[in-house]
Amino acid sequence: MVEKEPGAARPALPACDEVQNERLAAFPRESPYPIVECDREGFPIYLNPAAEERLRALGVDLTDLLPLSHVDIVRACMHEGERTSDVESAVGEYHFSWTYQPVPALGVVHIYGQDVTARRRAEERLVRSALMDALTGLPNRALLTDRLQRNADLLERHPDYCFAVLLLDLDRFQMINESLGHAGGDRMLVEVTRRLGSCVKQSDTVARVGGDEFVILLEDIGTPGNVTRIADRIQSSLAGPFSLGGREVFVGASLGITLACKERHEPADLLRDAETAMYRAKSESKGRYKVFDQTMHAQAVEQLQLEGELRRALEREELVNHYQPIFSLRTGRVAGCEALVRWQHPQRGLLPPAAFIGLAEAAGLIGALGAQVMALACQDARSSWADPRSGLYVSVNLSADQLHRPDLAEQIAGLARSAGLPPAALKVEITESMAARDAEATIATLVALRAHGIQVMIDDFGTGYSSLAYLKHFPLDVLKIDRAFVKDLTTDPGAEAITTTIILLAHALGCEVVAEGVETEAQLDFLRKNGCDFVQGFLLSRPLPLEAFQRLLASPPRVPGVSDPAA
Ligand code: C2E
Ligand code: MG
Ligand code: MG
Repeated sequence: MVEKEPGAARPALPACDEVQNERLAAFPRESPYPIVECDREGFPIYLNPAAEERLRALGVDLTDLLPLSHVDIVRACMHEGERTSDVESAVGEYHFSWTYQPVPALGVVHIYGQDVTARRRAEERLVRSALMDALTGLPNRALLTDRLQRNADLLERHPDYCFAVLLLDLDRFQMINESLGHAGGDRMLVEVTRRLGSCVKQSDTVARVGGDEFVILLEDIGTPGNVTRIADRIQSSLAGPFSLGGREVFVGASLGITLACKERHEPADLLRDAETAMYRAKSESKGRYKVFDQTMHAQAVEQLQLEGELRRALEREELVNHYQPIFSLRTGRVAGCEALVRWQHPQRGLLPPAAFIGLAEAAGLIGALGAQVMALACQDARSSWADPRSGLYVSVNLSADQLHRPDLAEQIAGLARSAGLPPAALKVEITESMAARDAEATIATLVALRAHGIQVMIDDFGTGYSSLAYLKHFPLDVLKIDRAFVKDLTTDPGAEAITTTIILLAHALGCEVVAEGVETEAQLDFLRKNGCDFVQGFLLSRPLPLEAFQRLLASPPRVPGVSDPAA
């Protein structure tokens, strides 16, 4: 235990006047900082006015103000004849830093103090902001990684130790953010934080690692069964309604779980595995959890491999467009076509877009891919069919990341211009959910495209969340009814009602309608009778490589049962 009685009452120092005068002269009284002079045992001799003032203001004794190890430091200083700096003391919320300067000739120590409260607070704030998420007060990724590492170290020393990592992603957060605004989204995240906290033990860590992504580190879990029980608890706690802005809102969560083991316990690996499992949960059915297994790892590695190959494919121009004709139900003739990208993979053969579009989006390659597809479509159209007399157009699919580039309209118009394609022969296809993601920016882009003379189609219509009333704010020209409805025409009265309603309302909004995925005569018949303008589907033609599409145009087929009123 440290001796700490320097401020105790003590008889006057037995010093002769001369020595005392010398000491007084050497003592820096006038400093604005607190300074104390002590004898070689740590007993105070003088205090300067600033020190006395500080004791008065804080209402404490000198004992409380000086560092706990004051006496030891004084003795060490005197013994070694060297100064000791940066010794800290705290009084309530105030912090002081002290420098002990021995003056061996006089047998005393001068102790210089400094109030470092403000600096300490700033440091604490800095540490907090470096390690904590400002909105929820939860640990952030840096602090989480540190805790994961501590658990990994523990596991290395005790192979029986077991811990788990859960990665949680909210399912409809984007939509909530958009409909309730960011303040609403923030309130939801805070409430999610509260609910998560109530599902785990105090010793577990709940961290926020992204917009709507949380990681839960469950320490010392005993048996793996405990983890799935907690996952269940989390999901049912988040399934209950959230009351935001006077409304009841529901949000689900998909969870990926991974258990650390002797072979695999590095923080980065565990987070990656939990993420892989979470994406699997989300793609199979939202609001579920999935436990990571090694086959997922193999698939993730394969995706990574494919990502590298896709990068090279863009350089080597291995992407090609197939073209699927779109027929007019008024004239029975080909009106245009949709460009559908394929990847001519050197080993795997021709890959459909489903095999690589998502990958390109995740890898940040979709911008380059989209530009390549667009340039190709413009060149093919210009050289093969888009002379002004034919009136044929090509429509090109855009992905969400492309749509949200501020210079998209300029870029597309530039590609058409350099290919020599008139803008009227080019249309773009976007989906409803893409349009809804950032409505204002989307409208600006669509207006700019239109100003260049490029028309806009809404693809897969009916599968998103938007209503036609909502869509009327967007400058649109064509709606494409999703294949899901067309497929059930003539068998499901519900699909028929939706299809006829879309056609009527689209016309009322001044849009034309394309039905995609037409595979049977009966579907075609239904669409024609109900006023649909255009059709596209395997019944009339599959998507074709460029040469085959050129051959088709050389002797164009007609829609059976439709005669051209102008002919
Ligand atoms: P989408 O834009 O809705 O394209 C229509 C899809 O339906 C095409 O699939 C087409 O082959 C298929 N299809 C057309 N008629 C029929 C039919 O009668 N029956 C059936 N069962 N299917 C039919 P594909 O070529 O596999 O393309 C799938 C999706 O990939 C496209 O859906 C589009 O969202 C995306 N995609 C294609 N090319 C591009 C592209 O260049 N960029 C982007 N971002 N996405 C693209
Ligand atoms: Mg499309
Ligand atoms: Mg479609």
